[in-house]
Amino acid sequence: MEVAAGSYEYVKIPVAQMLTGSETGLPLHCVRGAKPGPTLSVLACVHGDEPQPIRAFQNVLAQIDRAQLSGALLVVPVANPFAFANFSRQSPDQHEQTNLWGAFPGSAKGTLTQRYAHKIRELLIEGADYLVECHSGGAAGRIQRRVDMDPDIEGAAGEKSREMAIAFASGGAALVHGVPFSKSSASGHALAQKIPAVSVEIGGAYLPECEENLYRENLEEGFLNLLVHLGMLPGEEKRLRITYFGFANRAEANPSSGGYLISRKTHFADLGAKVSEGELLGEMLDPFSLEVVEELRSPADGVLFFSRCSGPFEVGNKGFAVATEYREI
Ligand SMILES: [Zn+2]
Repeated sequence: MEVAAGSYEYVKIPVAQMLTGSETGLPLHCVRGAKPGPTLSVLACVHGDEPQPIRAFQNVLAQIDRAQLSGALLVVPVANPFAFANFSRQSPDQHEQTNLWGAFPGSAKGTLTQRYAHKIRELLIEGADYLVECHSGGAAGRIQRRVDMDPDIEGAAGEKSREMAIAFASGGAALVHGVPFSKSSASGHALAQKIPAVSVEIGGAYLPECEENLYRENLEEGFLNLLVHLGMLPGEEKRLRITYFGFANRAEANPSSGGYLISRKTHFADLGAKVSEGELLGEMLDPFSLEVVEELRSPADGVLFFSRCSGPFEVGNKGFAVATEYREI
């Protein structure tokens, strides 16, 4: 897509013709700054039940002064419209890979999910200088607040990804998780091509407005601070004190059966906050007998980085997650 310097375009890129006869597409916002510079690609709703970034994107795009912008910004607010319409992590294809998160590099002649991966790779990864994949909490009340980076990537792409994670988290999330990325995710695929990439996990779905605003501010401030960090917007980069923890240093408190979760950790401020070993995180109510059947307690002292709002909970899912060893960076 050719977009003139200093201009903005929104297009739906055709992906496939459906059985209904309608054409399905990839929604792409392209903002080209008046000055030359790098290309940053930003994706959300790779998982269809994670809508938190959408309003943040709306606000950031509305705020950007193209006369001040160096380089180009490519933004896809809904990367998997089929999963989005179903409020699901998966798209409703009949075959195989239905999780767009793990469908890269994709295929132009594959399943619908693979075709979306192919189009995203072609338009947002190849030729990009940096990639940000934005996830959030979502179905079944998941809430999150952190930025993920892959600590195993060596060289310039690894170092730049680390800096990007710190710049984004300095928007307020203040928590960075070092976790190896799957090579079949968009950000893992980008890293394999030596394109610096991070994966953001901030917010939830259908949150009360007072909570939604707080997560959204983390996203907006993180996004804008990253643009400053990358030299795409003028200004002074913010740098918060960040809590960093690795993948090996985490522990979970998961319900042993399905039921109604009564959560004690439902607030924005609970995420990134310290918890003590044995602290009550939630209780499981049997929705049939109406008895409390299980207490969920923190398995260790640490920092809570994954939680849930109260509501029905299916067995086998994660309840709460705590970083057990961490350091300030
Ligand atoms: Zn996700």
